[in-house]
Amino acid sequence: MNLAPVDGTALSSEPSSERRRGPHAGRGVRQAGYLLIAAGAIGLVNDLVPGTVGHGHLTSVALDSLNLAVGVAALALCTKHFMHGWIALLLPVFAMANVAANNAVGVLPPATYGTWFVLILVWVGIWYPPWTVAALAPVTVAAYLAPLLAGAPRSPGAIPAVLLVVPVAVLAGETIAHYTDRVRRAENARERLLGDLSREIVTDKLTGVGNRRLGEMLLESLEPGDAVAILDVDLFKQVNDRYGHPEGDRLLHRLGDDLNQSVRDVDAVARMGGEEFMVVMRGAGQEGFETVSRLLGSWREGSPLATISAGVAVHKPKTSPEVTYAAADEALYVAKHTGRDRVVMAGTAA
Ligand code: GH3
Ligand code: MG
Ligand code: MG
Repeated sequence: MNLAPVDGTALSSEPSSERRRGPHAGRGVRQAGYLLIAAGAIGLVNDLVPGTVGHGHLTSVALDSLNLAVGVAALALCTKHFMHGWIALLLPVFAMANVAANNAVGVLPPATYGTWFVLILVWVGIWYPPWTVAALAPVTVAAYLAPLLAGAPRSPGAIPAVLLVVPVAVLAGETIAHYTDRVRRAENARERLLGDLSREIVTDKLTGVGNRRLGEMLLESLEPGDAVAILDVDLFKQVNDRYGHPEGDRLLHRLGDDLNQSVRDVDAVARMGGEEFMVVMRGAGQEGFETVSRLLGSWREGSPLATISAGVAVHKPKTSPEVTYAAADEALYVAKHTGRDRVVMAGTAA
């Protein structure tokens, strides 16, 4: 049984370290925190009302305050990684012990005793996989019976009622656990599909780098200081003519791989069309020139069928992406017309 599901993605077939990093991590612990605080607050308010069983009992106030304190602690710790696995099951176990202790000292209306166990196992069912609730049945039986067997005030038939309370609580928790399991599996599958689909929409099939659509999105996202490089294969038409179109395709594929591997994680590569690629280097500024020079150098060392020319421009404040792209394109034009196989920085080309 997988006991690490407090985050909502835990039911997928991914490795547990991946699962726990899901977006829902800690939500279950947070919810338990709010429930404990609510239970403590409701208990404290009841303690104030004359005529309630807890009225005037210091133990009742102490147990309700303990609920509040554990609830606050759960809220404080809910983002901590160690709380996102089986350890959080200590919260329902604590809640059961608190209910049993309330009963033991006679500050819980006997008629409400069983309902608390149902609520607690419902929480387990929401956040843990199927059969976790069932596995907690012996703990629930022990918590339910302990105060009654120790002589706590009880309604008639309270002890045999364990045969009703625990199965009902387990049934409620397991029903929810099985349903939530199905919903989460469906959600995970949908998220995976959407991820694959959105990757496909912005990927160029031939080279594996971003396609023009991604290129346009990258341009829209430009910040001042980002460097934009446009790279174009030199005399590529001749490569096709001499070696055939498939060989030309292989060259483009290799170039895509090379560019992808040479840029940093924050940078991005897109094939804007034909044999023209764009590289966006985040915050690179003028250093974008050296980066692209190195790229061209290592490409040249691989004795390619064709060299590459490039134009680089740095995005300036209050400038539109189109202007920056046009500046890089103009620099590329200069590179082409001054002998090819070189990089030209926009603004230095005049
Ligand atoms: P320049 O140095 O001035 O850029 O010369 P060039 O020959 O590279 O430029 P031109 O624009 O004349 O030719 C580009 C060629 O790229 C023509 C076209 O057949 C080829 N091409 C465009 N897309 C693909 C592709 O997906 N695969 C292959 N193999 N060739 C392509
Ligand atoms: Mg070309
Ligand atoms: Mg071209």
